[in-house]
Amino acid sequence: MNKRTHLIKPLLGMDYGVISHGKGIYLYDEEGNSFLDGCSGAVTANIGHGVSEITEAMVNQANQVSFVYRSQFTSSSAEELAERLAQSAPGDLDWVFFVNSGSEAMETALKIAIQYWQELGRPTKNKVISRWMSYHGITMGALSMSGHVIRRSRFTAMLEQYPTLSPPYCYRCTFKDHCPNCSKQYALEFEREVQRLGADTIAAFVCEPIVGAAGGAVVPPETYFKEMKAVCNRYDILFIADEVMTGIGRTGKMYAMEHWGVVPDILALGKGMSAGYTPMAATLVSDRIIQTIERGSKIVLSGHTFSANPLSASICLAVFNYIKKHNVVENAEKSGAILLRGLENLKSIYPIIGDVRGRGLLTAIEFVQDPLTKEPFPLQNEVTNRFIRKCYEEGLLVYTAAGGLNGVAGDAVIVAPPLIIQEHEVQILLDKLNKGLTELVSELAT
Ligand code: PLP
Repeated sequence: MNKRTHLIKPLLGMDYGVISHGKGIYLYDEEGNSFLDGCSGAVTANIGHGVSEITEAMVNQANQVSFVYRSQFTSSSAEELAERLAQSAPGDLDWVFFVNSGSEAMETALKIAIQYWQELGRPTKNKVISRWMSYHGITMGALSMSGHVIRRSRFTAMLEQYPTLSPPYCYRCTFKDHCPNCSKQYALEFEREVQRLGADTIAAFVCEPIVGAAGGAVVPPETYFKEMKAVCNRYDILFIADEVMTGIGRTGKMYAMEHWGVVPDILALGKGMSAGYTPMAATLVSDRIIQTIERGSKIVLSGHTFSANPLSASICLAVFNYIKKHNVVENAEKSGAILLRGLENLKSIYPIIGDVRGRGLLTAIEFVQDPLTKEPFPLQNEVTNRFIRKCYEEGLLVYTAAGGLNGVAGDAVIVAPPLIIQEHEVQILLDKLNKGLTELVSELAT
């Protein structure tokens, strides 16, 4: 552990050592320790580890062909995966562009939105409006759209300075004086910003249905998306949903936007689409947008060498089939409700838990110094990292969402196990969290 090697570890992580194998919801390291994967890696390993159906699909496709160049050939696996995704997606999100990571899916979403308005002869519509406390990826375009202060900090000068709205963060609501009508206030803020900048400069509004890494399972108020979509419709603004973390069942619906019945114009997928068995992601695009592009320049001006790679596509297809066959999305809803109840119970025991929240199996705990004033811990106290370390010592992996409060404070931990987790395993997870909390509280008291 902590050995110096030649591998650059991005975004300085915990450096836990070397994993030898995984099975179901558990990972095993080379020293013989086992870990309950309480965060599915980076909220990715949705069907758990070591699923033989997936490795069989991998081998079968590799035995046929692993790579074709997407500007020369297509493959039956990429075609079938696109068809399955289009059929499962809401509304007229009928078209699929394959990429290799969530960041690329969001870059593609941005480019397609801008290209759409160009095709319609409106090239000044080239900005996106995003929100603070959001994360859309690490590449420059995706980072420009991200309201994640820490990840932006070194590169601010190189990023587009897109307008940024208040996040719909119920625990610390910007418009709490208007409760329960805060959604209208968020929409009003959006509308005023559009009017200030001019609707003819705005291509799209971009959001995560449930905020992930930048805040920790932050679920918006019930009517928020309907109100925001109404503003989009009023001012000819496209709605981009970043479902890289929430998509493919994580929140107890195939797509999180289904919770609110709002259909985006563009929707990005990643993480759970391959469940971590291969790097693959996708941008789903509405029929209206693609028809407009087809009438204009005819092609989507983007693409990567590995786009629509047949090996990755066959793996994602096997993951998709597994999810359907084993009712994984339904299980996410059922096990998620049990997990959230368990977290509420922990909140009633530990005053340092200010908030617990989430939908399906995307849940989070937020720590505070004082539950009455909601005073956060100073970031330099590293409460989140210390808790993650305590959980690790109990054989449980959880994920950081610290720093969401504009990068200066805010301690949140995401709990998001594989969607196949069963009730008795949720109980084991909760017991480990409980032990981690006891350890953290006694350490903070010293
Ligand atoms: N969008 C969201 C909502 C994410 O959570 C992430 C990653 O955490 C990304 C985009 C970027 O995806 P990737 O890390 O695969 O580039």
